[in-house]
Formats: sequence, structure tokens, C-alpha cells
Amino acid sequence: MGIIIKDALAVLPVNGEDVIGKHSIYIDGDKIVGIDNEPEGFKADTTIDGKDRLVIPGLINAHTHTYMSMMRNCADDLSFMDWLFKTIDPIEGQLRDEDAYWGSLLGQLEMIKSGTTMFNDQQMHIHQTTKAVMESGMRASICRGLVGGEYDRNDVRLNQALEEIEDGKKCDRLSFFFGPHAPYTCGPEYLRMCADVAKEKGLGIHIHLSESVTESENMMKDHNCTPIEYALNAGVFDVPTIAAHCVQVTPDDIKILADKKVSVVTNPASNMKLGNGFAPVPEMMAAGVNVCLGTDGAASNNSQNMFREMGYLSLIHKGTHKTPQCISAKEVFKIATINGAKALGKGDEIGSIEVGKKADLAILRLDVPSMMPNNNLLAALCYSASGSEVDSVIINGQIIMEKREVKTIDEERVYFEIREMCKRLGLADKTY
Ligand SMILES: [Zn+2]
Repeated sequence: MGIIIKDALAVLPVNGEDVIGKHSIYIDGDKIVGIDNEPEGFKADTTIDGKDRLVIPGLINAHTHTYMSMMRNCADDLSFMDWLFKTIDPIEGQLRDEDAYWGSLLGQLEMIKSGTTMFNDQQMHIHQTTKAVMESGMRASICRGLVGGEYDRNDVRLNQALEEIEDGKKCDRLSFFFGPHAPYTCGPEYLRMCADVAKEKGLGIHIHLSESVTESENMMKDHNCTPIEYALNAGVFDVPTIAAHCVQVTPDDIKILADKKVSVVTNPASNMKLGNGFAPVPEMMAAGVNVCLGTDGAASNNSQNMFREMGYLSLIHKGTHKTPQCISAKEVFKIATINGAKALGKGDEIGSIEVGKKADLAILRLDVPSMMPNNNLLAALCYSASGSEVDSVIINGQIIMEKREVKTIDEERVYFEIREMCKRLGLADKTY
């Protein structure tokens, strides 16, 4: 199917810098086949008028748990350990497999409507999530959450994860990482085994690291090292690693992350809301760490909206560092796009608008109050936009949302199922 987005403003990389200019974008099949130059023999089935429109590479949510979307606003104002072990874990224990399917679809709806085209998901319900991704048309990296203590190649979850990965290969929008949950739920030998198997299978690792003060204190008490050193010693960083959070990190930890080329996903809303603080993003960037951006699950964020996250990311660091130069709108936009693509091993395929890359794009309205006047649009994306400006979304060359109507997901059905599920799980607000 051929699509032209005609004469729109678009964010394109020029010599490594994102630059906004007026362009026409030609899409054929799943790829961008031309920018301004119409390829020979190109035939358009669909023409999108670019007047008052801004085209951006789809945002990449590099750390979330989509199935948890039904747990939005049900465990708030709690300490991290109480949130996780006293509230979230008991709800997880009651979930039916199909609940994860509807939860993931709800999360994906929210992401599509706010311009995200790919997400990196860690969870326990792979089949339900891969089914939801196949239907929604989104691009996703799926990571089976793994917890354990011993070096055991017969570990049930590990082998389930390997089977699930084989199963998911039939969809080219799906990719897979191993997801050992965190140092406080995975023993050193178990982590070493995950790293060994990941290396053998050519997979990366997606892990939570150094999220809370309690985690770091317990690690020092029990193992006399930081969570980053613990993961290093277990061989985790010998495979491409995406480390979510990295809030409580020392200067030595940052050096390890940079040396081992670990990509760090910062999750500002979740970290702040759980009272965990914030990752030293400017310091990590200065050390050469590939920093990307995630929402984390809706149980802790409580949103899947990457525009909100971009705003927090910039404001938190400008405020706490007491200098507005420590992170720019350009840097934030890269963190939310190409850096996420690189972390997921897809830097050559997605994350920017370039000929030959996959057509994963979000089209925003500029004729709305939040984007008016159209002065510095990169600043507008970072500081003014809320996500509601996203009008249409194309993923893998397919129009997934047009004029805010998501074509691949039955929204009403998702809302119905989520409401019923929340009643059953006792999460629905009793006052309604
Ligand atoms: Zn998480």
C-alpha cells in the first residue's frame, strides 16, 4: 500500500541533529521509500494532507508492563516495597491469563493515542501480549519476567520463555529480550544462567536495576556491592542490556554502564511517584551512556503517555540541577526516539524518519492551542504537547489511527472488559 504525507512539517535527522522542515514522505509497504523525491513507479493509495501537521518518528516506550494497565490508580501514595509486595503482587496473583490481554490492549490504546509506536514490555503473560500486539499493529519487544535462585537450565519459566520466543517469530513486529526481573528477585547464579542462555540465543537482557534506596541498601548489606556491580559480576552486561531505572547509582556504577554499553531507561514519573528519586540522566549522558525513556507500568506511573514523560524528564533535571542547559528539548526528543531504537537493537530500522527505515510515524495537529504559535516545534513537543495533538499514527506502513480513531482495536469492548475485570478483582471504586 502506498501512502504520501504531502507537504507536512517533519522532524528529520540532519548530520545527527533533529531538524524540522517541510517535506513530503513516501511510504510503500512497511518502509519509507522517499522523502521529497517520489520514487519511480510509486503509486499512492492514500494521500495525507500535511497542512498544519507535524510528522515525527513514533515514540519508543523503552520500559513498561502493559498488562498492568488495569491496575491504574489502585495502589497509590505507598512506599515502593509496600506498593510492590503488599498491593501489586496480590492483585497479580488473582489475574487470569486473558486479563493480561485486555490490560495490554488498554495500555496499547493509550500509547497509540499519544504517538508511541513501539514498546518494550516485561511481564508474565507472553501469549496474551503477543496476541494483543499482533492485533493492535504496534511494534513491541517482549520480555518474559524471570525470577529464581539457582543455575538451573531446566527452569520452567526460562524454557517457557524460549518456547514463547519461537512462537512469536511469526510476527515481524515482535522481538524478544530475556527479562530477569531484578537483583532482589534473581540470585547471582540465576542471573548468570540468564546471561549465558541469552548469549547462546543471541538475545539481549531487560532488567530493573537500582530502582530504590532499599534495594541498594539491602544489596550492600547482603552482597557488599551495588545492584549494578551485582549484575556486572553475574555476567549480565556481557550481552546487550537494557537497564530500567538506575536511580541509585554511584559514579563508579555510571562508569560501568558506559564501559559495558548498557542502555539505561529512565522512568521519571514512576520513580518520582514511588518516592524513589530520579536517575542522574545528565551525568549518565555526559559519561556516554545511551539513555532512553519509558513510562513503566500504569500501576506506578499512572500513565502510558510518553509526552508527559518527556516533559517530566526535562523539567526534573533542569529543576534539580538548577541549570536549564543540563538537558535540551533536542536531547529529550532523541532519548524518546532514536536512543530507544538503539537500545532495542533497532537503530537501523526505526527511531527516525529516513529513507529505508520502517514507516513508524506519528502525525500531530499544529492547529490546536497547545501547539500555537508554531515557533520552536521541538520545544513544543517537549514542553507544550500533551499527546492529545496526535491525530494519526502509522506503524510498519499501516495506518493504525486516523483522525484519532484507532482502526485495529475495538475501544468500547476494551473498556467494557476492563470495567468487568476491575469489578471482579475488587479494584473498581466502590463509590460509583
Ligand atoms: Zn518496571
